[in-house]
Amino acid sequence: MEVFKDKLALSAYLSNKTKVGFVPTMGALHKGHVSLIKLSEQQCETTVCSIFVNPAQFNDKNDLLNYPRTTEKDLALLKEAGCNVVFIPEVDEIYPPHLPMQHYDFGAMEKVMEGEHRPGHFNGMANVVQRLFAIVQPHFAFFGEKDFQQLCVVKQLVKLLNLPITIVPGAIIREEDGLAMSSRNMLLTPTERAQASGIYETLTRIKTNSKGSNPHELLQYAHENFRNYPLITPEYIQFAYADNLENVKALDKSRAIILFIAVKLGKVRLIDNMLVYE
Ligand code: AMP
Repeated sequence: MEVFKDKLALSAYLSNKTKVGFVPTMGALHKGHVSLIKLSEQQCETTVCSIFVNPAQFNDKNDLLNYPRTTEKDLALLKEAGCNVVFIPEVDEIYPPHLPMQHYDFGAMEKVMEGEHRPGHFNGMANVVQRLFAIVQPHFAFFGEKDFQQLCVVKQLVKLLNLPITIVPGAIIREEDGLAMSSRNMLLTPTERAQASGIYETLTRIKTNSKGSNPHELLQYAHENFRNYPLITPEYIQFAYADNLENVKALDKSRAIILFIAVKLGKVRLIDNMLVYE
């Protein structure tokens, strides 16, 4: 496994590779990240993983400061997973002072849910993804459905910039009790961690009860269900159409619908989602 800190050296190394697969991450790696590495290995000749905690996508300074960093463990995990190339740049390598930030217009999809609750998040994410794509020049890039809205925004970015990159989604990987794997889970106290399964429990409960009820009743029911998990404060719970993330008012079951949840559990913010109508 080759490890690069220098973008020019990485670009030179990759320049003669055919079928490059890319998995961008912020490190503190877990089985969710590994599942994307494995997807890439199935389809590509060279798999590149980047580890970069992107300051531009954090709207909360403490979240950035507290974000877990476990580089040695990450490298061991990537090696074991068969990853070929790792890129671990310093902040200046990605954001040299002379290179201005871009402003992207993703339309309505960046104004709802994560876009509404984390101002500037998607623009910061798009800036780093664009810069990483320009360095790695992958043929395929892999993104988890855990961050479904991010996946939609990245697809939109590729369209806007007309990039020759295929975006491949990866299914959500969960812990045994259903909690979606996340680097932030390690920041939970044991009592918070025990209640965190309430997110998945609520998603599955709503999915099971979704036939015949209207969205408003279902969302009310979801909020009531979180009373069983007093450490959890829901930030938003909402249904959106999978194709454009438009808020669902009356269920149009001819389109795929996803239930999205964001919560605070102590100081930790967690998100999850589940397809309720295919
Ligand atoms: P992050 O390191 O959190 O920025 O995530 C890097 C990539 O891994 C993103 O495409 C995420 O959507 C994906 N990812 C994170 N957690 C999971 C999970 N539990 N299952 C599948 N993909 C995930």
